[in-house]
Amino acid sequence: MAFKVYVTDYDYGTLDPEKKEVAKIGAVLVPTQSKTEDAIIENCKDADGLLNQYAPITRKVMESLPNLKVVGRYGVGVNTVDLKAATDLGIQVVNVPDFCMDEVSNQAITLMMACHRKLNILNHQTHHDGWDYQIAKPIRRLSGQTLGLLGFGRIPRMVAQKMKAFGLKILAYDPYVSPEAGAKEGVEILPLKDVLMQSDIVSVHVPLTKDTENLLNDETLSWMKPTAIVVNTSRGPLIDEAALYRALKDGKIGYAGLDVTVHEPIEKDNPLLTLDNVIITPHIAWYSEESEIDLKTKAARGVAAVLNGEKAQYLVNKDVLK
Ligand code: NAD
Repeated sequence: MAFKVYVTDYDYGTLDPEKKEVAKIGAVLVPTQSKTEDAIIENCKDADGLLNQYAPITRKVMESLPNLKVVGRYGVGVNTVDLKAATDLGIQVVNVPDFCMDEVSNQAITLMMACHRKLNILNHQTHHDGWDYQIAKPIRRLSGQTLGLLGFGRIPRMVAQKMKAFGLKILAYDPYVSPEAGAKEGVEILPLKDVLMQSDIVSVHVPLTKDTENLLNDETLSWMKPTAIVVNTSRGPLIDEAALYRALKDGKIGYAGLDVTVHEPIEKDNPLLTLDNVIITPHIAWYSEESEIDLKTKAARGVAAVLNGEKAQYLVNKDVLK
């Protein structure tokens, strides 16, 4: 009997890349829009594999699907899946950590540049009968400035590579990367306080964990230059938004470019939306037509590999193999 791979939920226009991948092992793709535990249990009863976007894959869900062998998560984060339960139940969880490094690094750079050149206020002005470059004053020359990366994983390494072309000095804070490894890429690894104190632009790329929540708060923001630009393309809760609002409003830092916010979509009455020195995009950093196809293909490929008895390229709960 052919394996069945159910899609628990999705907001994509097509599932053709997934269909193609699972067909290679003779499996069938069954799309559903099951957004709750009960809906998944009801609609995906005989699933051998799941592909999952936002729906909660809890212990109860996994215990209720007797054939389930693998859960594939569309994306890097696997916070929708109870990993401990999956491991206890012998279910492999696979993700896609590398589908959008080019896109996210470009979005971070776009936000840095837009903040640096004050693009939002200039664009707003020209759309409302204005033509006065002086409203953007002062802007300092970018080359020779210092960029501080918080986290030095895949995405910020790409940011560093690209930003060198603009003549920036690059620092990074990452407790798991040695100064020698940083030096190989022309980046100086320093403690958080030094990076924040020395940088003209700070770009946040650390993963969200209990340790990193509110990494930028009243105290750490106060270490930054009053002209500093903060960019966040990682996860909203890494920055205490109330503290960020105060810092931006009181001139303790200069500008912020955010692709992610604590609540998504952002609340209509979020005070950050009242400030001119903030640019916000709706969690789009990961997206291009190519990265979306990559994501869907790789997620399905991981699920198909497990069902076919092969080693998945990106297994999250490695303990499950013990
Ligand atoms: P990665 O897994 O390659 O690297 C993470 C890095 O963070 C590692 O070098 C690790 O040592 C470091 N780190 C871990 N804990 C830390 C801490 N407490 N302090 C400082 N550094 C710490 O991650 P990546 O591919 O570079 O992605 C970075 C983040 O980007 C992801 O966690 C994800 O949240 C986010 N992301 C956002 C989008 C988007 O659309 N906005 C898309 C993809 C990824």
